[in-house]
Amino acid sequence: MNAARPTSSDRRPASVVINFIEGTRAVTADELEAHSVTRYRVTSSYRDQIINSGYYDQLKFIVEPSFEEFESPGNLDTSGEHDNTVVPGFQHKYAQTGLLLATDHCASYCRYCFRKRIVGKDSDEIAVDLGEIARYIRGHPEMTNVLVSGGDPFVLSTRRLHEILDHLLPFRHLNSIRFGTKMLAYAPKRFEDPDLMALFQRIHEARKAAVIVTHFDHIGEVSADAEGSIRLLRARGVLFLNQSVLLAKVNDDPETLAATFIKCHQMGIRPYYLFQGRPVKGASHFQVPLRRGLEIARGINQRLSGIEKTFKYIMSHYTGKIEILDLGADGRVYMRYHQNKDPEKIGKIFSRPYLEGACWLDDLPEGSD
Ligand code: SF4
Repeated sequence: MNAARPTSSDRRPASVVINFIEGTRAVTADELEAHSVTRYRVTSSYRDQIINSGYYDQLKFIVEPSFEEFESPGNLDTSGEHDNTVVPGFQHKYAQTGLLLATDHCASYCRYCFRKRIVGKDSDEIAVDLGEIARYIRGHPEMTNVLVSGGDPFVLSTRRLHEILDHLLPFRHLNSIRFGTKMLAYAPKRFEDPDLMALFQRIHEARKAAVIVTHFDHIGEVSADAEGSIRLLRARGVLFLNQSVLLAKVNDDPETLAATFIKCHQMGIRPYYLFQGRPVKGASHFQVPLRRGLEIARGINQRLSGIEKTFKYIMSHYTGKIEILDLGADGRVYMRYHQNKDPEKIGKIFSRPYLEGACWLDDLPEGSD
């Protein structure tokens, strides 16, 4: 991890000294494992960008480890990904969408990652047998799109990405191939690879939409190189959406997020989801209470023009994707299912009494919905 210095000459050091945000601390490998502390890695281009952006005091929390990771309660599979895995490395939670976990590696590791159970590790939740995945897709004509995620798919070789497409493009019932990536923040020059451009061309020639879902949490993450790569890709017909995570100390104010979304809009990226932070073990200190989250969402919308108001404030819960709508004068949080396994529940508004400090559906008392 960050500037680790062994304190023992054993092959597996008894402890290493790690630079945390709050200071150095000696920790053992067992401690790191027991607390599921995410591996440390930051690209030099991202480090330079966040320093030069003038926002280092906020953005350091995205990639630098903190003592808080040892204390934050939660679990490691908040969305029930295990339960929705139909083939190793492939999930099918909502009828129309397949989710392919292409890798467990990323260019840099976000400290708040909700897949910290797999990222930076050798996980068995990654797609290995693409043929088996293709056979599953063939049997599910209701599936209209596949999201290729991970980890970050763009850490893979371009050749491996082409192999993945070999197994997806033949299906006429798939009308879009989507990639979830933070690479445009962490290593934007990756997209200067001409073979990667050919990848998107293949998707278009198969008469499908090529979509990249970027992951900018803060305007300070948008570099000139990222803007250049996005321009290149848009010129090739790639559609762009952005998702952000609402993160304590990083972007938990409406000015920052409105500026981020306006920047996305200007680059041709449609702000799509603002995710409520999940109660992830070792990362729940990033969560913002729902009351404050709703104030921020409203504050963002007050700063955006009509055509920029394209984001939804979303809780990606075990039961489905829930849009968080309002905290009423009656003290209840109003929500509606944006996605649910049960189509009958989609679009239905429901409410729960708000408890001060609540950050997640499970923190709100059940009953009298
Ligand atoms: S880039 Fe995505 S998958 Fe990788 S650590 Fe960050 S949030 Fe997790």
